[in-house]
Amino acid sequence: MSRLRILLDNGHGQETPGKRSPVWADGSQLFEYEFNRDIVRRIARMLAHKSITFDIIVHENTDIPLYVRANRVNHICSVNGAKNCLLLSIHANAGGGTGWEVWTSIGQTMADDYAEIIYKRAKIAFPEWKMRYDMTDGDHDKEDDFTILKKTQCPAVLTENFFMDTERDCRFIMSEAGRDRIARMHFDAILDCIAWYEKQSR
Ligand SMILES: [Zn+2]
Repeated sequence: MSRLRILLDNGHGQETPGKRSPVWADGSQLFEYEFNRDIVRRIARMLAHKSITFDIIVHENTDIPLYVRANRVNHICSVNGAKNCLLLSIHANAGGGTGWEVWTSIGQTMADDYAEIIYKRAKIAFPEWKMRYDMTDGDHDKEDDFTILKKTQCPAVLTENFFMDTERDCRFIMSEAGRDRIARMHFDAILDCIAWYEKQSR
């Protein structure tokens, strides 16, 4: 039986304009590229410990264009079979708001099943936080044709982990405890996704 391969995408680069929090009163500031990479690193460490196969799509600190990231994903899909891969793209949200949300491309695919599994884990992991969702199509994910979701051949899910421009959220995702909880939530969700995948492919 083939195993589910986890592809971890950490978007944005050091120099990407806008992808950062305001400078807070104490001088602290969050850069999204650093947050995304740190969460991916933490998830990767836990996956390695469990001997779960994964790839980190972006090793650079610069902003790798979306089509290049999609190409890297699709190369791995062509070797392993797209349905045996799951892409997780890790982000921090912005635009004013609070809480956690998950995205897939428009329409019903395997990504929607994975997103629902991940949503359930997040709801358990962050009981004191607002869960943001869109139930109009019968599940909790929000949907849009983001390039990294639409142009990749495997099921692809994007998580927006709290708002970097809302101070309470930003403090949480700057903290060691917050990052540990976010990484663990993804790790637990990945284990659930693997279990679901194995049940499907039996
Ligand atoms: Zn982002």
